[in-house]
Amino acid sequence: MGLTPMMRQYFEIKDRYKDCIVFFRLGDFYEMFFDDAKTASRELELVLTGRDCGLEERAPMCGIPFHASANYIQRLVYKGYKVAICEQVEDVNASKGIVKRDVIKVITPGTYVENNGVENRNTYLSTIYEEDGNIAIATTDISTGEFKVTSFKSLKTTLLDEITKINPKEIVIDVNLNEKLENELSSITGAFLTKKDLREFLCTREELIVQFSEVEVSNLSIAAEKATRILLKYVYETQKMSLLNINYLEQYDIINFMTIDGNSRRNLELTENIREKSKKGSLLWVMDKTSTSMGARVLRKWIDEPLISREEILKRLTGVEELFNDFSFNEDLRSLLKDIYDIERIVGKVANGNVNGKDMISLKNSLSKLPAIKSLLSSSTSNLLKEYYENLDVLEDIKTILEKSIKEDPSLSIKEGDIIKDGYSNEVDELRVAKSHGKEWIASLENSEREITGIKSLKVGYNKVFGYYIEIRKANYSSIPEGRYIRKQTLANAERYITSELKEMEDKILGAEEKLIKLEYEIFLEIRKAVEKEIPRLKASARIVGELDCISTLSKIAVENDYVKPEINESGIIEIEEGRHPVVEKVIGRGEFVSNDTLLNKNDNRLLLITGPNMAGKSTYMRQVALITLMAQMGSFVPAKSANISVCDKIFTRIGASDDLAGGKSTFMVEMWEVSNILKNATPKSLVLLDEVGRGTSTYDGLSIAWSVIEHISNTESLKCNTLFATHYHELTKLEGEIEGVKNYSVAVSEVDDNIIFLRKIVEGGADQSYGVEVAKLAGIPKSVIDRAKEILADLEGTDKGVIQGIEKGEVSKVVECIEEISIEKEDSTNDKEKNNKKSNEISEVKEMQMDFTFIEKEDFVNKISNIDILNLNPMEAMNKLYQIVSEAKSLK
Ligand code: ADP
Repeated sequence: MGLTPMMRQYFEIKDRYKDCIVFFRLGDFYEMFFDDAKTASRELELVLTGRDCGLEERAPMCGIPFHASANYIQRLVYKGYKVAICEQVEDVNASKGIVKRDVIKVITPGTYVENNGVENRNTYLSTIYEEDGNIAIATTDISTGEFKVTSFKSLKTTLLDEITKINPKEIVIDVNLNEKLENELSSITGAFLTKKDLREFLCTREELIVQFSEVEVSNLSIAAEKATRILLKYVYETQKMSLLNINYLEQYDIINFMTIDGNSRRNLELTENIREKSKKGSLLWVMDKTSTSMGARVLRKWIDEPLISREEILKRLTGVEELFNDFSFNEDLRSLLKDIYDIERIVGKVANGNVNGKDMISLKNSLSKLPAIKSLLSSSTSNLLKEYYENLDVLEDIKTILEKSIKEDPSLSIKEGDIIKDGYSNEVDELRVAKSHGKEWIASLENSEREITGIKSLKVGYNKVFGYYIEIRKANYSSIPEGRYIRKQTLANAERYITSELKEMEDKILGAEEKLIKLEYEIFLEIRKAVEKEIPRLKASARIVGELDCISTLSKIAVENDYVKPEINESGIIEIEEGRHPVVEKVIGRGEFVSNDTLLNKNDNRLLLITGPNMAGKSTYMRQVALITLMAQMGSFVPAKSANISVCDKIFTRIGASDDLAGGKSTFMVEMWEVSNILKNATPKSLVLLDEVGRGTSTYDGLSIAWSVIEHISNTESLKCNTLFATHYHELTKLEGEIEGVKNYSVAVSEVDDNIIFLRKIVEGGADQSYGVEVAKLAGIPKSVIDRAKEILADLEGTDKGVIQGIEKGEVSKVVECIEEISIEKEDSTNDKEKNNKKSNEISEVKEMQMDFTFIEKEDFVNKISNIDILNLNPMEAMNKLYQIVSEAKSLK
């Protein structure tokens, strides 16, 4: 027994798409076979059946109706599977034997863009390639056509920082990439990793030049060129065509943006909060007031990539300032912007042939706002807005084409007609007249036939099988004039008839309809082609709209939240008057938030040692300084009365995300790991935040480590960076005056009748006690426990005076060495086994610690469910939510 021809065909195809679930089109269904069927039936809860395939055993099979495939594809892709869509690629009637089938598209996590519009953010697909000591990362979003590449000296930390920033959904990596790096990539980004042999898997240089241009690719480094070719190859392989909206290759240099490592990004809660990983409570949440999807993506990018050129920062700030000072200008602008659809994504649909009439109308309506925007910008004075004015192509010609050709309310499908506007094509108009005349004639037929025959109940009707007919009830048969009608169909109580005129008219109507559908489709394709030719112009205008929206939004939130334009310097001075934390003030209310000043000056205020009891507001204060700096460098006004911000190259934070985790060695290891990373990578232009360093270990160890870190940062020429150091070891306050640049600050508290009140005010000078017991009392610890704690504290204070004196300078430097040893740095291309073993032990310790996260995950999960706003979900969203909940619950089991 041999395989059936269809199964042979299936195997030939499956063989080429081993890593995909193949959706094999059979009639109105996509069928899956063998292992694919088993996987899909498990993941999608489908019934597993079997099909004769020519072998003794039936082939396991399951299927889904093709019209409902979108939802199933989404579920599989979200679970990290790839789906290969295999269609019949020739006309069934024309084929001899078995109809030809082939894969027309491969949908993968990084190319699944259907849901993009909902989230207003990019879906990135990246690749990483290393050659000649350089690493290149190429990235694209196929829905917007963005394609960018960067290359830098091979350093793992830089790679991980950059890839965390990009946050791709899928990364194409080399099959031979070392396993440790592979694990790290997957754990920090959560991306799906696709493995290819990158020495072979790349498109040709010619294809590269056709996709972009000779000029754009001429100055790429070797690694960058290869990465670009690899990524293009993957796009071709999955999309099965070269996408026309990918036509501009953006080369960027990571050193043009502030470096923020993955940890610091998470700690500062830039685009999502740490606990729930949702936008709420993040900086993006405060700023996310854009009017367009394009603006929303630009805003996210600007938050992710603060600038480091003073000139560029000032350019943005002056643009924001102009709109800040002219409220009505900005409001007029925003009311125009809010009616602009996602031009980039519509253009993406034009490029891949998915665009329909409704999209074209959205495009036309969007373009029709551009002239008014341009004229608003015509009187602008800032360089940035003037530049937008000069460069904004209002695309009048494209708008006119669409306006003339596409109906205002076209049908959804481009294959159903009813899409081309009256008056655009004579031929379409004539066919429409023919069709409507015919319909009128038929409409009048009922009356005229009733009159002629005298049969009042005579009806004219239509069905798909017999076409138009005249229906007469049994009781009236005798009244039918002899020879008038031809019998067509007999029903229980009636007969259906036709006449030759009726059939002629029917042919005319149906003929006209068929021709119309075909003709309208052809005309639509012509229009699509015309728009397609203008993709680069459309993309350029869309980019300006996105940026302009972002500038306008920064002005809007600055007005609403009472932000101020920062001054920007390059001399290391950060001076903030009455600064506020942009997110906390939103959460607790502006009136409740206590503002604070900051001075960091590279001189006597270089390392601010902030003491104060737990819950006093130390970490809020430190984050506030970092966020104000970051906002200034993205070109935003800042929450303060005044601010003068020095451009910083990197922001580092060691803030206790892990503080609230179960303690122990692993937590301490992570903490030291982070500190070590900071000490190695910070520069004199960096801003460093260290919160409770040394907390994860015993008091003596912790104190000595904290001390030595302060000493190291303050005395090492290549560091000496602006630092905020919060600690509850008030013994460290003695370092002011001993170590150059260290300055004591504390968060003021007041004591009233044995109770403490947090004043949230940062004042000069160190806190003289830790108030730990008082804070415990505030938190509701039983009185008996508090009283006993006070007794113990009194005892300890009596015996423990000499902590600081006990640490000799020599011992301190030993601790520094210890911290540096824990380094994860320096690429492990070395064969040093011992070193590798040690590192893998560290990794497994970290992993062990991560396993302890489950209880937090469960809590987060419960929170997430209770926060679902059921009344604001449509049925589809509700299904998706339910599905997510079930999958998440399974993963937490
Ligand atoms: P610490 O780091 O000293 O333990 P946090 O910075 O976590 O304290 O602050 C504890 C809480 O105090 C915060 O959740 C916040 O609600 C409140 N808080 C902090 N700073 C301020 C402030 N400046 N004004 C008002 N409330 C504040």
